[in-house]
Amino acid sequence: MSEPEPSIFTLIIRGEIPCHKVYEDEHVFAFLDINPFSPGHTLVVPKEQAITLDALSDESSAAIGRVLPRISQAVLAVSGTVDFNVLQNNGEAAFQSVSHVHFHIIPKSEDGSGLAWPFKSTQLDPDEGARMAEQIRNYLE
Ligand code: 5GP
Repeated sequence: MSEPEPSIFTLIIRGEIPCHKVYEDEHVFAFLDINPFSPGHTLVVPKEQAITLDALSDESSAAIGRVLPRISQAVLAVSGTVDFNVLQNNGEAAFQSVSHVHFHIIPKSEDGSGLAWPFKSTQLDPDEGARMAEQIRNYLE
């Protein structure tokens, strides 16, 4: 069987598309969302290129589950928030736009930024992104 076309997240994981990386281990890669709902909005992605969560291997699922709380803790500490949403969309009708499993960690601040209906995102500022990703990496060390 032929290999599937690499998803945009696989290209990011391979380093072929730049990102503000915050975490990496054998099975998991995490980086700042390019159109954040709030400062610190992070995507946690299995390196395995499954499209939807129900197709993900036990090994990758366990690896994601192991680090989601810790990455959330770092994102909250650095963004100075307490409340947050973890969002995970599967399929186009369920608002999935990138066909590679991913978990959003979205801080919800008192000023109202974060997940709200209708969803509203901003553009990630490169300098702010570099600063915040470095702080999250440092927190995780
Ligand atoms: P979905 O709607 O599939 O749950 O979310 C996909 C997310 O991936 C969106 O929030 C979008 O901003 C983010 N995204 C799409 N392409 C890129 C990219 O090239 N780099 C980064 N950092 N985020 C991306």
